[in-house]
Amino acid sequence: MTSKTVAVIGGDPVGLAAAAHLMERGMTPIVLEAGERTGHAVRQWRHVQLFSPWKYNIDGAAARLLASTGWNPPIRKSILRAASCSTTISIPLGPRRR
Ligand SMILES: Cc1cc2nc3c(=O)[nH]c(=O)nc-3n(C[C@H](O)[C@H](O)[C@H](O)COP(=O)(O)OP(=O)(O)OC[C@H]3O[C@@H](n4cnc5c(N)ncnc54)[C@H](O)[C@@H]3O)c2cc1C
Repeated sequence: MTSKTVAVIGGDPVGLAAAAHLMERGMTPIVLEAGERTGHAVRQWRHVQLFSPWKYNIDGAAARLLASTGWNPPIRKSILRAASCSTTISIPLGPRRR
């Protein structure tokens, strides 16, 4: 294990998943998000219903990290609106503001 600090550019699904993977490897991610908060890009189209079921919208490392906080995932087959997906992932995973 290493104690490296790694910058992740963008705090939407891929950036948050990358941060979760870094944490699993003992590194410290700093997520730099240009928007107001994490999930910024997905929130721009929050009214849209996703085309893929939830199980494809969540990264494994992110799911493990969220599970360790007592998080209740949506049903694997459910098809969420972007708003729910963003809230479900990015609020509990969202990094602290600095
Ligand atoms: C209408 C619509 C419906 C979709 N439905 C689905 C679906 O059902 N299933 C599916 O799997 N995919 C779906 N997608 C695709 C999916 O949303 C994207 O693949 C996913 O959001 C990409 O995530 P990302 O984190 O790479 O990029 P983005 O979501 O684009 O996020 C990039 C983030 O980086 C930030 N950023 C950009 N530049 C900088 C910078 N220089 N410094 C700091 N921060 C920066 C932005 O503010 C943003 O928050 C859909 C996309 C759209 C538009």
